[in-house]
Amino acid sequence: MNSNLLADNPRPTVAAPALRTKAELRAAVAEARRDGATVGLVPTMGYLHEGHLSLIRAARAECDLVVMSLFVNPTQFGAGEDLDRYPRDEERDLRLAAEAGADLVFAPGVEEVYPDGLEGIATYVEVTGQLTGVLDGDPSRRGPEHFRGVTTVVAKLFNLVDPDVAYFGQKDAQQAVVIRRMVSDLDFPVRIEVLPTVREPDGLAMSSRNAYLSPEDRERATALSRALEAAERGARAGSLGMGLEAARRELATAGIEPEYLEARDAETLERVHTLDDRPLLVLVAAPVGSARLIDNVLIHPSNHDSQS
Ligand code: AMP
Repeated sequence: MNSNLLADNPRPTVAAPALRTKAELRAAVAEARRDGATVGLVPTMGYLHEGHLSLIRAARAECDLVVMSLFVNPTQFGAGEDLDRYPRDEERDLRLAAEAGADLVFAPGVEEVYPDGLEGIATYVEVTGQLTGVLDGDPSRRGPEHFRGVTTVVAKLFNLVDPDVAYFGQKDAQQAVVIRRMVSDLDFPVRIEVLPTVREPDGLAMSSRNAYLSPEDRERATALSRALEAAERGARAGSLGMGLEAARRELATAGIEPEYLEARDAETLERVHTLDDRPLLVLVAAPVGSARLIDNVLIHPSNHDSQS
């Protein structure tokens, strides 16, 4: 054992307290509220990376109490999806969450969130129609049930925490659109902040699922962000069609066959074939090795300013 371990490692290890029950969570938030605290919520499924941490830091900068939730939500996984192998490391997550500024982490078990069991759930929150029926919501893909699971758990978190602000990532662009719609339709008194996608130095969008990639697949996966860059270049040069073609070629060169690569209106998610003055999303989903990866770029044609 190295006796200099402490000297080499002077920073004390802190961990955010993990609350397991809804009652504890409500009590902690109520206490902070009594002191007039504003509350920020960062919902996650854990296995934290810089994308998650950017949301926590944003919440820290704006809110007095920062609550992160850590829950691998079974209702948003379809049969045959990766629920059982979804990567988990709670100890590391609690440390990283605290370092980024989370005051507490709500990390309940499945039975705490769904006390009647998954088969016994009687009430779902569901955004219907185009927003949840296309792209990942297409029945041939994850389907509308995926988003129903997301909106149900997020609605429950909103009811438990009653946050002033909730933070989401542009990485899951369709999810962000769906959540904004739920908040608007159900009058949730919360401001939704959607923050830019955090990427690895080589462009790959950070994702807990990147842990599934073999070294070779990790290299191939960089084609997704290159494809989106090509699409954006094409759009900015005035030809969305040529941009999408170039994007397809990038993927093909890497041996990647996308489930979808599409340009859509950033608010309505309607298909866009020609550029106009509305912000548009180019979104891609593709299997790479044993991972299913998604990524997107948000393009504001009118001011030639892009994010994500
Ligand atoms: P997840 O744990 O994958 O459910 O993600 C939790 C939150 O982090 C969601 O709002 C995601 O959109 C967001 N997020 C995931 N990856 C990134 C990323 N690379 N950059 C920014 N936000 C992200």
